[in-house]
Amino acid sequence: MRLSRFYLPTLKETPGEAQIASHRFMLRAGMVRQQAAGIYAWLPLGLRVLKKIERIVREEQERAGAIELLMPTIQPASLWEESGRFDAYGPEMLRIKDRHDRDMLFGPTNEEMITDIVRSSIKSYKQLPKMLYHIQWKFRDELRPRFGVMRGREFLMKDTYSFDASPDDARKSYLKMFAAYLRTFRRMGLETVPVKADSGPIGGDLTHEFVVLAENGESDVFMDKALIGKPVPDAGTDFDGDLEGIFSDWTSLYAGTDEVHDEEAWSKVPEDRRLSLRGIEVGHIFCFGTKYSAPMRARVQNAEGKEVDMEMGSYGIGVSRLVGALIEAHHDEDGPKWPMSVAPFHVGLINLRAGDEATDKACAEIEAALEAAGVEVLYDDTADRAGEKFARMDLCGLPHQLVVGPRGLGQGEVEWKDRATGEKSNLKLDEAANRIA
Ligand code: ATP
Ligand code: MG
Ligand code: MG
Ligand code: MG
Repeated sequence: MRLSRFYLPTLKETPGEAQIASHRFMLRAGMVRQQAAGIYAWLPLGLRVLKKIERIVREEQERAGAIELLMPTIQPASLWEESGRFDAYGPEMLRIKDRHDRDMLFGPTNEEMITDIVRSSIKSYKQLPKMLYHIQWKFRDELRPRFGVMRGREFLMKDTYSFDASPDDARKSYLKMFAAYLRTFRRMGLETVPVKADSGPIGGDLTHEFVVLAENGESDVFMDKALIGKPVPDAGTDFDGDLEGIFSDWTSLYAGTDEVHDEEAWSKVPEDRRLSLRGIEVGHIFCFGTKYSAPMRARVQNAEGKEVDMEMGSYGIGVSRLVGALIEAHHDEDGPKWPMSVAPFHVGLINLRAGDEATDKACAEIEAALEAAGVEVLYDDTADRAGEKFARMDLCGLPHQLVVGPRGLGQGEVEWKDRATGEKSNLKLDEAANRIA
């Protein structure tokens, strides 16, 4: 991609409303633009990151056996009247009336709708288990939208729903998602910890939040330090096999949100391993049994020929929040430092003398070689000053930079910089593509 053709509306000044690094950098790097409180347009650079995150989420959902569908953003109130949540949900729900004066809403989540879909076709335990997911925009009229996309009103969520014929099977579905989440976040270069969460009035302890440890997080977490850096399940994990070992390996170490904090269990964690810190909730998984299936009469015949309510779970990931969380986890004073797997482009190629025949030619060749190798290049071919180009590329946060100028080119060399470490070295022209690809 040539920068001269791209749309990258960077800002020189830090917008006053941005209190934290991720919000600041997302606005300054032209990743998003606010259109109303908590409502953002995703500009090309930001959208590329969002798509990379979506892709990893999809791959890991599929690996765990979940099937993608797509439900609408607008829902009829009637479904929510069946579950009792139309009244219970409160002012976070955006309620709409259509021209026939029918009550509609912009979905804050989709338990009712998926239950309606599944109850229409699944009648027997033989059709179970099923895990269905979508990646769709949600709306919650948050009291205090803030921190940019981290607490938006419109935001992108991946939500999966599991359906089983018995509580034992529902637990198996839960464990699949638990293991899938460990892999999903780690693949993005994020360190997350599954922490025991509050299950509210439904009870049970099968609910975990996945949090990124970060000062600007809004959740309070108490945890055993030994959870940090634990190896996650590998790609060969058999998701149809027994996942209890993985689950107990992670959950036998203390980790809980402040709502479920248990002083007695906490006192048993060796003192030098006790961490009490803040985190960003990027995922939340929940096994809630028959909370929706019972009132909505989503029933199947079980193996004994008895009609039972389906056992359900739901599993969310804050896809758009993750863009902010990733920056909170990886940045310096100049901008984000994207991990390769979610970077908007892999390499920033800087031409220090655009318009010069030799540097133009060298850059075009490097760009072509990289793209042929499947490397995504943002090529700064503009006539801007060198200082401006360096600052802008740092602000974009691409993992690699290649700088081509007349002096280096005289020795047949280009300069390579690792954005994350700041490490630099000179490479021969023909090495440049190999170094990155
Ligand atoms: P929070 O505690 O931050 O308000 P939540 O517990 O209300 O989140 P869930 O209902 O568990 O959120 O939704 C699943 C996921 O969706 C969350 O783990 C989070 O990553 C994401 N999410 C929730 N609300 C927002 C929001 N306002 N903006 C961006 N992402 C959000
Ligand atoms: Mg909330
Ligand atoms: Mg929460
Ligand atoms: Mg939650």
